[in-house]
Amino acid sequence: MGWAAISKDAATRGAANLTDDVRASFTWEDARQMLEGLPGGGLNIAHEALDRHVAAGHGDQVALRWLGKTGDRRDITYAELTGMAARFANLLKAQGLGPGTRVYGLMGRVPELYAAALGTLKAGMTFTPLFAAFGPEPIKARLEIGEGNVLVTTAGLYRRKVAAWRDEVPSLRLVLTVDHDEAPEGCVALGPELERAADQFETAPTMPDDMALIHFTSGTTGRPKGAVHVHGAVVAHAATGRFALDLKPGDIYWCTADPGWVTGTSYGIISPLVNRVTMIVDEAEFDLDRWYSILQDEGVQVWYSAPTAIRMLMRAGKEAAQSYDFSKLRFLASVGEPLNPEAVVWSNEIFGRPFHDNWWQTETGGIMIANTAEMDIQPGSMGKPLPGIEAGIVARDDGGLRDCKTGEIGELALRPGWPSMMRAYLHEQARYDKCFVDGWYLSGDLAMRDKDGYFWFVGRADDLIKTSGHLIGPFEVESALIEHDAVAEAGVIGLPDETAGEVVRAYVTLNPGFEPSDTLEREVRGHARKVLGPAVAPREVLFRTSLPKTRSGKIMRRLLKARELGLPEGDISTLESDET
Ligand code: ATP
Ligand code: MG
Repeated sequence: MGWAAISKDAATRGAANLTDDVRASFTWEDARQMLEGLPGGGLNIAHEALDRHVAAGHGDQVALRWLGKTGDRRDITYAELTGMAARFANLLKAQGLGPGTRVYGLMGRVPELYAAALGTLKAGMTFTPLFAAFGPEPIKARLEIGEGNVLVTTAGLYRRKVAAWRDEVPSLRLVLTVDHDEAPEGCVALGPELERAADQFETAPTMPDDMALIHFTSGTTGRPKGAVHVHGAVVAHAATGRFALDLKPGDIYWCTADPGWVTGTSYGIISPLVNRVTMIVDEAEFDLDRWYSILQDEGVQVWYSAPTAIRMLMRAGKEAAQSYDFSKLRFLASVGEPLNPEAVVWSNEIFGRPFHDNWWQTETGGIMIANTAEMDIQPGSMGKPLPGIEAGIVARDDGGLRDCKTGEIGELALRPGWPSMMRAYLHEQARYDKCFVDGWYLSGDLAMRDKDGYFWFVGRADDLIKTSGHLIGPFEVESALIEHDAVAEAGVIGLPDETAGEVVRAYVTLNPGFEPSDTLEREVRGHARKVLGPAVAPREVLFRTSLPKTRSGKIMRRLLKARELGLPEGDISTLESDET
């Protein structure tokens, strides 16, 4: 699509986990064989992530290398993390809680969060992580929707965000606070309880279809949905970590996503541990030098991040990366938003390895479409369906669906049946049922497939722009805009227009060294016209100091549009603070 393919060197391809043979013959039963399972057909995520590695003699391997905000570091081995999870499970049991209990995590990326998540799963209960940065209302709403029973948080977060409404959520029986401060009134301090608890716990005999996690979607297109996931999902976490992230036992792996977003749980806790890597957990927020230092000093081999962060690195320029040694990096992957081709090419230059874009959703529980280590990369494409995944591009036709032709834009659909598929939207049966038509799961995203089988993201179905008979996906326009030296990020929407139906409007942020001006506006527009043609290029380009984004780093185009048109903003519970 205008960018040269990046082909794999033979050495990388040869060593990839996913070979052509595996691709050709794979079944989900093969993935099941990567795991141990429990007697009687049982399956438990914590068992696969922790217990079995310890039993196999890997207890001394570091499972989690924690990098604290203020420079502390802590190495936690598989044996230690298993012990911490067991203590947490015992604590819950000692409180009289049993299977079915819903435990919420609301805290930064501290070791206790990981112990709580895994301990909850070990105990056969359900875990729901929330972003610590959520405000009081989004936290309350999510506890109510999920009927949360236990909240693990910090004393500070409790006082600021929970105490005022706690009595209004009757399902909430127990609040545990993790820090050293004394527990606020009505809460229990976690530390002393964990110390008292035994470090052995027989993992609950859960079955593959038992509920394990509730994950709220990012809220990019509207009100967040509570997606229900089961223990059986671990089969997909095992396989997709191996195939799409090229994880190998013993790798140093860094997933930059917070567990409050599904990526930070599926690929920031479960998949890496199941694949027995050493995971880096950084407590701090994005910081350029810190990130480059972590990659270098910790010898990160596999790195999973997101376009919003990658664009921040790009914004700082190549010079900022020059003094670092990234030679340990073997595989880079990105998810969450379309990855602009510019970013793929840039990363190949800076790190000597390109970012591999992959696509999935909270609903799918795991990676579905990916650029894998054995493939040539087409910058701007999200890759091909992973083994075991059947993806299609479909269009609605007389009430049913028809397959789209090669190159035709349609809705991205998946054949249900992979292990990590959500089992419900909590309390929203009708919304869930609407996702399934004619034997397909409809993703709500638009994409197209090229003649070589690569999938190309076009936009959210809601975001498609129709102008003078053309269909335009915002991603294409945004990617063209950020090719301009001045442009760091872009959000593109359609605005109603009497003659054209809709016109394309772009909002952009600028790279350091550039100031908004009429001349620059004309120049950026001119560049877009040259790349895209006059029908598709934005009619107007507006400069912003930042764009509205979700906590998981996705540009909220619906909000740009609502604000422009003076419409209600809708659900903005996941909005990261922004300026307009
Ligand atoms: P909500 O469903 O509440 O509106 P959301 O869809 O952003 O929020 P997530 O489940 O976190 O919630 O995100 C999944 C969506 O993110 C996908 O449907 C897709 O639109 C986008 N996405 C994820 N990865 C990619 C990618 N590699 N390329 C393009 N888009 C992606
Ligand atoms: Mg969604």
